[in-house]
Amino acid sequence: MKGIVTRSTGSWHTVSDAEGNSLPCKLKGNFRIKGIRTTNPLAVGDRVEVEVSGDKTVGIITRVLDRQNYIIRKATKLSKESHIIAANIDQLIIVATLAFPRTSTGFIDRVLVTAEAYHIPAAIVFNKMDLHAGELLQWLEETEQIYSDAGYPCLRVSVKSGEGIENFKELLKDKISLITGHSGVGKSSLINLIQPGLRLKTMEISSYHLKGQHATTFAEMHPLSFGGFIIDTPGIKEFGLTDFNKNEVAERFPEMRALMHQCRYSNCTHSHEPGCAVIKAVEEGRIHQSRYYNYLSIFNGNDWNEDKWNH
Ligand code: GDP
Ligand code: ZN
Repeated sequence: MKGIVTRSTGSWHTVSDAEGNSLPCKLKGNFRIKGIRTTNPLAVGDRVEVEVSGDKTVGIITRVLDRQNYIIRKATKLSKESHIIAANIDQLIIVATLAFPRTSTGFIDRVLVTAEAYHIPAAIVFNKMDLHAGELLQWLEETEQIYSDAGYPCLRVSVKSGEGIENFKELLKDKISLITGHSGVGKSSLINLIQPGLRLKTMEISSYHLKGQHATTFAEMHPLSFGGFIIDTPGIKEFGLTDFNKNEVAERFPEMRALMHQCRYSNCTHSHEPGCAVIKAVEEGRIHQSRYYNYLSIFNGNDWNEDKWNH
């Protein structure tokens, strides 16, 4: 049997096949995955091969296919061991809104930088379109422009009016998606609309509560009736919070990455140097100012502060 791990709690893993059958499985003895030191050898999203028992009630996982990406969390701050939250994520969906509670570009850019670091494609879904008119609608158009120019697909939806919901389903169809966004932007409402009955419990867990409890929290994948999975993980809320190596930040802005090699100095930080291709592009309007300011803010290691980030 070939399948995907949809639940992983210690030594038992639920594996689901393409037909939707699932089987409790154990990992073959002394199994190791090379490369990373982790507290868990398997995570939701892992693609595996399974030897099914004669009575077809349990299975032994004999092979784990190479991961296309994975998200991790350090077991503790100082520890070298990591906990893999999920693997093979096809996309990260940021649910945002310019209505209440307004999502800042600072938040969006932080999450996008993290997605780039993990090699996960990202898309932005703007919800509560029913509340957008006049100036707010104009602002939304500008914001969409910023992100589509940077290469991120943008979608407009409204749980209330139904606008864009079919497109939202289309976006999720046949993919493994991780959904993130501030509390109150409408994540649960959106998911309930497209998959009634699916309640993502861990979205309510505060990141405060999670500190120090990493080993006991497990991610889960929920199948969507029209195809695809949503990953439900306590890691969702923490998605924006990874350690940054300063010099890698610019590479995680695709529009800067495309120009960096043209800078006069190879160690250019794109903050003040003469002959900087990024600064030139900002001055000429080829890179949006808000993206550039958020780059500087992340590069300078400014602490997360929603007000300060509200460009
Ligand atoms: P979550 O914290 O991201 O899961 O957000 P919820 O799904 O709990 O939604 C927060 C609030 O926003 C609730 O009162 C919803 O009824 C409301 N809401 C969600 N989507 C929309 C929308 O498209 N339009 C409007 N006007 N309100 C919405
Ligand atoms: Zn530069």
